[in-house]
Amino acid sequence: MQDPNCIFCKIVRGEIPSRKVYEDADIFAFHDIHPIAPVHFLMIPKEHVASLEQTGDVHVTALGKIMVLAGRLAAEQGADEGFRLIVNTGRVGRQEVMHVHAHILGGKERLGSMLPRAR
Ligand code: AMP
Ligand code: ZN
Repeated sequence: MQDPNCIFCKIVRGEIPSRKVYEDADIFAFHDIHPIAPVHFLMIPKEHVASLEQTGDVHVTALGKIMVLAGRLAAEQGADEGFRLIVNTGRVGRQEVMHVHAHILGGKERLGSMLPRAR
């Protein structure tokens, strides 16, 4: 299933250009258009699913592949001493694009702390 109006589904279909990092039958990875780290790409299931709040059994393969391939792809992109995988989810998670995506963030320097500590 794809959503005709979803920007990331359009990227999967090649209707919107992207800088591809990886593709197989289940997932697609491409560089973030507004990188916030020297290495910043997104990994998405090809199947449209809006957020991690809506996943089910049919998404297990794609989501598993994202976790398993993240390290290899990060290293290939230059993040070979660690990285961060973030899946912003829903309103509280400040998700902006409603098609599940994992941000892979890294580079040669240590990233900032994950979140400021609540006081
Ligand atoms: P999020 O807040 O987790 O939903 O982040 C969505 C991410 O998608 C942001 O980092 C955007 O820079 C990125 N993004 C939006 N449109 C595109 C696009 N056409 N190509 C690549 N990245 C995009
Ligand atoms: Zn989509």
